[in-house]
Amino acid sequence: NQLQRQLARRTKGSNRWLKTKQRINKLHGKISRQRLDFAHKTSRQITNENDILVFEDLNVKAMQKFNGSMVADNVMGLITQLSKYKAELEGKLYHEIGRFEKSTGICSECGQRHVLTLNDRRFTCTACGAYQSRDLAAAKSIASTGELDIIAAGIVARVTPASQQKQSVKTKAFELSKLDFGSEKKTQPSC
Ligand SMILES: [Zn+2]
Repeated sequence: NQLQRQLARRTKGSNRWLKTKQRINKLHGKISRQRLDFAHKTSRQITNENDILVFEDLNVKAMQKFNGSMVADNVMGLITQLSKYKAELEGKLYHEIGRFEKSTGICSECGQRHVLTLNDRRFTCTACGAYQSRDLAAAKSIASTGELDIIAAGIVARVTPASQQKQSVKTKAFELSKLDFGSEKKTQPSC
């Protein structure tokens, strides 16, 4: 930027060089404070709104190559770390899925995989024809991969809304007691 060019014109170590250097440092400090503030707010919102958090462990170095300076500062990594910290603090479930799990280009309706470029913001599934947002489809894919991982690890039985969970437990208990009652009935006459 402008200040960087100014610094390059000054004699290294001179008073004017030092002054420009200080102005650059001050600017960088302001930007990183804003970034930290943004990361804190975003992670707070994520943790407040969800009980189970699934994050994709992003390959940040590869993303830098694609997106340049936008991801170079790794704000997403900061948000991930802060969310993990807040989730653990509040006894919520935090889960990370693998770094190289391909989530982009998977149809959220049927699971068909597509090769997309960064410019393909939306795509139409070649198998089922569903027209969808690339990022939303990726997020759904991350969520379902995370759900399967959590189930496989035996952490939760199933990620379903509390109201539905209650109902299925009730049904199970009812069936179980019916079965017990039935078998008792069967054994009683034989005795
Ligand atoms: Zn599809």
